[in-house]
Amino acid sequence: MTLDLLIKGGNVVFRDGVRTVDIGIKNEKISCIAEHISEDAKEVIEANGQYVMPGMIDTHVHISEPGRTEWEGFETGSKALAAGGTTSYVEMPLNALPATINKEALGLKLDAASNQNYVDYAFYGGLVPENLDKLEELADAGVLAFKAFMSDITSDIPDDFTNVDDYTLYKGMQKLAELDQLLCIHAENPSVTSKLAEEMVREGRTTAMDYVESRPIFTEVDAVQRAILFAKETGCKLHFVHISTSEAIQEILKARDVGVDVTVESCPHYFAMSAEQVEEIGPRAKCQPPLRKAKDQEKLWDELLNGNIDWLTSDHSPCTEDLKQGNIFEAWGGISGAQNNVDLMFDLAVKQRGLPVHKFVDLIATNPAERFNLTNKGEIAVSKDADIILVDPNQSYVVKREDLYYKNKHSAYEGRQIDCRVTKTIVRGNVVFDLDKGIVGNPIGKLISAK
Ligand SMILES: [Zn+2]
Repeated sequence: MTLDLLIKGGNVVFRDGVRTVDIGIKNEKISCIAEHISEDAKEVIEANGQYVMPGMIDTHVHISEPGRTEWEGFETGSKALAAGGTTSYVEMPLNALPATINKEALGLKLDAASNQNYVDYAFYGGLVPENLDKLEELADAGVLAFKAFMSDITSDIPDDFTNVDDYTLYKGMQKLAELDQLLCIHAENPSVTSKLAEEMVREGRTTAMDYVESRPIFTEVDAVQRAILFAKETGCKLHFVHISTSEAIQEILKARDVGVDVTVESCPHYFAMSAEQVEEIGPRAKCQPPLRKAKDQEKLWDELLNGNIDWLTSDHSPCTEDLKQGNIFEAWGGISGAQNNVDLMFDLAVKQRGLPVHKFVDLIATNPAERFNLTNKGEIAVSKDADIILVDPNQSYVVKREDLYYKNKHSAYEGRQIDCRVTKTIVRGNVVFDLDKGIVGNPIGKLISAK
């Protein structure tokens, strides 16, 4: 049997540690793993000195096509993901127009995404005040999970996404529990944060630190506590997106101890930048919840290193450059980060803070694959999809605008040196990114459906 691809001599990251072995790939799957594979292969990759690991599964990406394609599209967004070492992603139900809140809107997204993706992709359905009767049709249409905003997200634009009120959250959780669906929550108390923001602006306080202080830590903790209480009442499975504080994580751990089915993600930007740096970086570093002060960031690091955060996501939330100008309260709140997750966090967590490499792989691939039932993905093992990346821990580079694949080439990491580099990204046995050649071949990404 001739292999399609053979990856030779890399330091392969398994669930329990790292071993130097060869990996054979045939028909998109990992077909054999051995110390030395002597079979012929159509293509051979020499991986000496590099880590070979499952590609990242980024479960928090905003593509905004159709409807706001000028912000980001499937082609440019998935190229950035591929270049950053992501092999699958789950796309959020907001920023595109219409928002993904019924099966017609999902159909528009499926059409727009088809034949444009360089990596595998799946979709969320949204939970909003007017779509309680549409959750079942979204589940039937194959969305992987649902997403709701407890933070303030109002819009005058028809078919745009809006936040839930407590009633909708409660009723939605009841329905999703019946459907055995996972609900992902953006947890911030909207009435406190929006009034504090109004107060700041009225008083002419518009520095980056003022913005951070308009969204204090307790507003995240409060929303987490409320959602957990509703989950206890309804039995709904919960996942908290982009948690920014140790205090919120401690609440989630307490809930898990008493049997609530709950997981939590955080994002590289909460570890890579602190609130004190936002003034210097400017609105490119604006996100919700905001970056936290250095002393609070240290506590979040402890949670990550102690295994209390289940996985990492980019929360790639792009926009056009003009929306990132001016005063920070007015600028778009979202960081373009899809291309720098693996390298940045490998540098910070593994190289600088000593996180074992196999624990790092849990955070980028294995844990999200388990939670989202992606049974073919998330691990280097025989018969799994050959979704594999090569990571060179000895290369350094500086993030430059011209190397970004985003539609709008701004990044909070521009000018930053990263001491690690993704050199190849392989999706089901197809090389889609090679550091020397850039994006390779056609958009071979496939839809992952829960049905
Ligand atoms: Zn988001």
